[in-house]
Amino acid sequence: MKKRTPIKDGAVATKDGKITFVGKNAFATNIQAEKKINAKGKAALPGLINCHTHVPMTLFRGIAEDQPLDVWLKKAIWPLEAKLRSEDIYTGALLGCLEMIKSGTTCFADMYFHEDVIAKAVEKSGMRGVLAEGIIEAGDKTLGEKMLNESVNFARSFHGYADGRVTALLGPHAAYSCSPELLIKVKEKASELNVGVHIHLAESKEMFKEFEQRYGSSEVEFLNKTDLLNRHVLAAHCIDLSVEDMQLLSKDNVNVAYVPVANMKLGLGAAKIKDLVDLGVNVGLGTDGPASNNSLDLFETMKMAALLQKLTYSNPKVLPVYDVSRMATINGAKALGLERNVGSLEVGKKADIILVDFSKPHLRPLHNIYANIVYSARGSDVDTVIVDGKIVMENQQVKTLDEQAIMKKAEKTAWDLLSR
Ligand SMILES: [Zn+2]
Repeated sequence: MKKRTPIKDGAVATKDGKITFVGKNAFATNIQAEKKINAKGKAALPGLINCHTHVPMTLFRGIAEDQPLDVWLKKAIWPLEAKLRSEDIYTGALLGCLEMIKSGTTCFADMYFHEDVIAKAVEKSGMRGVLAEGIIEAGDKTLGEKMLNESVNFARSFHGYADGRVTALLGPHAAYSCSPELLIKVKEKASELNVGVHIHLAESKEMFKEFEQRYGSSEVEFLNKTDLLNRHVLAAHCIDLSVEDMQLLSKDNVNVAYVPVANMKLGLGAAKIKDLVDLGVNVGLGTDGPASNNSLDLFETMKMAALLQKLTYSNPKVLPVYDVSRMATINGAKALGLERNVGSLEVGKKADIILVDFSKPHLRPLHNIYANIVYSARGSDVDTVIVDGKIVMENQQVKTLDEQAIMKKAEKTAWDLLSR
């Protein structure tokens, strides 16, 4: 890994949505700019990339706390999701986009239902989204077929949407909720459409045991048999994998979305990220849905990502700050198949840039900028957000969305849902 060093007194220039200059301010003096942003006291970073969420679940934030995963899902979340209408999903997605923009996330990978309206929220907000319409079979083959068709139709219609800011993946929910036959079809369709796959994988130790009893193999071995892992795969969670499982993920270049906060909150355990990274697996960071986190702040996730690994291995050397910052940026971009376009500040890449205000007590002194970003910064320190060269937030004012109106609508929708 080529280590990048921060540029002091730097400047970034963009044109037509792309980065045209990155370097010392002193070398940028002859650049003619239509608009200049004075970033004194701020750090320009690549926009953060959230590799796993279900963004409309902002509406369920705080609704079901301190429950085990199966109770949380079956008693609280699924009954509420059954009442969701597409306009509610749009409202929840807008609230999530607003939260992400304000905390420096420029791109997110989502798996949910009615992704078409989530794509519309991405378009309106100015963000970048890698969206997958979820596919759950749960023993009902007709349902599985129907959802596969919807996922395929979404990918056909929305891959490249919003000037290319939306790309699509297929979204088989998990190995335990989709049959091998369905997963084989997902793989075939993904090949046909030339898109990747976003899936939950090995989310809890309990499920892991149940799955092995039922199928006689681990979830990873099971997916490997369906050939699904041969596609570009984004696998969220990956807790408690065997060495053989990890080797399979490495062999097939599976991308892992490490989701530390939601895994801790639901008491599910910790992914062995050091082992995966040592095997060459690419790891990005995810928040998971706001109902199981309860935040979309990737600065918080970076901190938790590092701390949980140090605790898991009882070793403070595991997952250093520089590596965590890569997970939230360039590794995340790679996990979403976007590393040629975003994830770092380089000439020729799309201009997805955030400015973090370091003129704050908790961010001084500045011995190690990576340490301050991972351990001390918060989403609320983000001052300016640029996506595709367009200013989406400046001086903490979001330009693309009406903050007050969205919060009001989301509050009303969340309460309406409970009374339906
Ligand atoms: Zn999830």
